[in-house]
Amino acid sequence: MSSQTFLAALTGSFSTPCADNPTVAMIEAAYRHHDMNARYINCDVKADGLADAVRGAVAMGWAGFNCSIPHKVAVLAHLDTLADSAAIIGAVNCVVIRDGRLTGENTDGKGFLESLSSVTDPKGKSFCLLGAGGAARAIAVELALAGARHLTIVNRDPARGQDIATLINDRTAAEATFLPWTERFAIPQDIDVLINATSVGLGDAEAMPDIDPDSLRDGMVVADVIPNPPRTALLRAAHDRGCTTLDGLGMLVNQGVISIRLWFGQDVDAAVMARQLQDIFGVAKA
Ligand code: NDP
Repeated sequence: MSSQTFLAALTGSFSTPCADNPTVAMIEAAYRHHDMNARYINCDVKADGLADAVRGAVAMGWAGFNCSIPHKVAVLAHLDTLADSAAIIGAVNCVVIRDGRLTGENTDGKGFLESLSSVTDPKGKSFCLLGAGGAARAIAVELALAGARHLTIVNRDPARGQDIATLINDRTAAEATFLPWTERFAIPQDIDVLINATSVGLGDAEAMPDIDPDSLRDGMVVADVIPNPPRTALLRAAHDRGCTTLDGLGMLVNQGVISIRLWFGQDVDAAVMARQLQDIFGVAKA
């Protein structure tokens, strides 16, 4: 009997708009590199189509899917269980389908944590997070669950910032403080890791969050969530002052690695996916 199979494992993404989302190219580069018999399909799913899309994925035996705007919270209604951090964050961007049961995960913060672990251990450290949107919330929860000692959340909108600080204080062992961002912000000198989790810098290499660059001190870790362009003004300023820097491209690639691990239990080569994204973004290779 032939060992050939014409049936691939299916994965993909449900979001809208989605034509600009390069995740499919990144994930399929890994599938090809590792000779995995799997496909990833980028699907434009409107808000009122989510229930049918999820039922369709289950009916077609998909291994799982990513979801993004506008489905990250709405998808919760269609799941059987939630991973611990996704339950605290209250949003899901990766769903694993096993034996017809759906488990919700959130890879935003986990992708960041995986990047961070290449330079430092979050245990006992003091973090400053600029921004209080979905990315900041996911990163804050993962840092707290990984043993961070203190988080300072800095945001323009006080309600969103206070909400994350309260979530961390109420649901995790870490401590969090909110500071309103009303003027140029000087990074407190006891901060070990600064993270830009705002959208400042997306598509604009010169845009800089309104912080005092001279408060970036030698030895600090400075991370940015912005994947494109990855060498943001903040990271360049931090590098010039002797900080260790982490870019958002690495965080994005790690999210792909984590999704594939969750769906198939296989660790893929992050460098293959990074190269694919660099080609798409037109970034010079490191
Ligand atoms: P949200 O829209 O949920 O949040 C945006 C945040 O940015 C808010 O806190 C907002 O502040 C803040 N902000 C926007 N403009 C400014 C400004 N001029 N000055 C100060 N703060 C500002 O977005 P997300 O959290 O979903 O995403 C944030 C960024 O993270 C995006 O650029 C996205 O591309 C990136 N991202 C990267 C990922 C990766 O894997 N690398 C994964 C997920 C996201 P306020 O509340 O006061 O309006």
